[in-house]
Amino acid sequence: MSLSLAATQPEPPADADDGVWLECIECSETFAPFDDVRYTCDECDGLLEVRYADLPTFDDFAGEGVWRYADALPFETGVTTQEGATPLYEVPRLEADVGVEALRIKHEGMNPTGSFKDRGMTVGVRVAKELGVDRLACASTGNTSAALAAYGSRGGMETLVLLPAGKVAAGKIAQASLHGARILEVDGNFDACLDIVQELAARGEAYLLNSLNPFRLEGQKTIGLEILEGFRDDYGAFPDRIVLPVGNAGNTSALYKAFRELVQAGELDADDVPKLTGVQAAGAAPMVEAIENGADEVRRWDDVETRATAIRIGNPVNAPKALPGIRETGGTAIAVSDEAITDAQRDLAEEGIGVEPASAASVAGLRKLRAEGIVDDAERVACLTTGHLLKDPDAAAAAGSDPEPVPADTEGVIEHLQG
Ligand SMILES: *Cc1c(COP(=O)(O)O)cnc(C)c1O
Ligand SMILES: [Zn+2]
Repeated sequence: MSLSLAATQPEPPADADDGVWLECIECSETFAPFDDVRYTCDECDGLLEVRYADLPTFDDFAGEGVWRYADALPFETGVTTQEGATPLYEVPRLEADVGVEALRIKHEGMNPTGSFKDRGMTVGVRVAKELGVDRLACASTGNTSAALAAYGSRGGMETLVLLPAGKVAAGKIAQASLHGARILEVDGNFDACLDIVQELAARGEAYLLNSLNPFRLEGQKTIGLEILEGFRDDYGAFPDRIVLPVGNAGNTSALYKAFRELVQAGELDADDVPKLTGVQAAGAAPMVEAIENGADEVRRWDDVETRATAIRIGNPVNAPKALPGIRETGGTAIAVSDEAITDAQRDLAEEGIGVEPASAASVAGLRKLRAEGIVDDAERVACLTTGHLLKDPDAAAAAGSDPEPVPADTEGVIEHLQG
């Protein structure tokens, strides 16, 4: 099975382009990567993955950011605004409070547009150029649209974003708007937006840059590579576990792919692969349901709700890639309440780290897994925080303290402070 940790390095098919090709994860059909626009398998509609004739070792990586990992990507460079190389913060108080051997926060909110989506877009927009398309599109809970708008306009292409009306945080719409995307507000949830944009893409109206697009996940692999290198530098060992929020399960799939490729290259022992641990909001937890039930497929949830709008998704398109990732690495998936998410957002804020609600799901999930004894105190853990606090100023203000009105004189302010 191509998605197993024990999979061996495949031979390049005749239609490989410079050692790069696409392969269906269901039926193993292969395709030339850049001859035609294609998102899924022509034969069976299965998800595609990018394959390489040569896989790099750690020694092959040089430079900073996503393109440090060019040897693990389809191109040497892309349409870039210096994405990646995000901080792997120490959080000593939170680490002690959660009670693990080591806890680090990989803060993807520190990317150029404030979320990890930039890592996928720098590669995806480069591929769009290769294909010669001129209009890019995505459905989005917000951050994908911000990244697509920024990278699309930097690449000189038109961008179209479909957003669920009333369910996208203010910062994200502002970004898409200023970077010049045409914003279509859909009277429906994210999953409805994705259905429509997939149909538009199928009809040739635009090039799709949702995480269904296998090239975006290539860029997102670099999160995993940075975490491994960071832990190795600081602890002399890779993390035992990586905890991450799950929406469409693109990151879960991408990190798993990064690790599989390192195993195939002989750079990582299958036993040392970090346990991929997904966290969803209780109101939008179809992946958790599938993991708990041992199901091979995820059941689509038609009604989803959570204040973590970035993961308000009922039909995670990358589930067929992510479920094996969670299982093969010995990880798990867990659902957390919106209250626990907000508490975790405050915990991170106390350590000086500002994240949007969906991001805090990782820390909330880790706390719950510690409480349930599923994570033990000897583990070294990385929690992924996916987006910046300023993405959702309303949620931040609601979770924080209120401004206090004071008179415009020093005496009055002192009196207020003593009161
Ligand atoms: C897109 C996004 C997610 C979901 O990531 P997936 O890779 O789709 O699981 C989580 N958090 C934030 C802030 C996001 O923007
Ligand atoms: Zn197929």
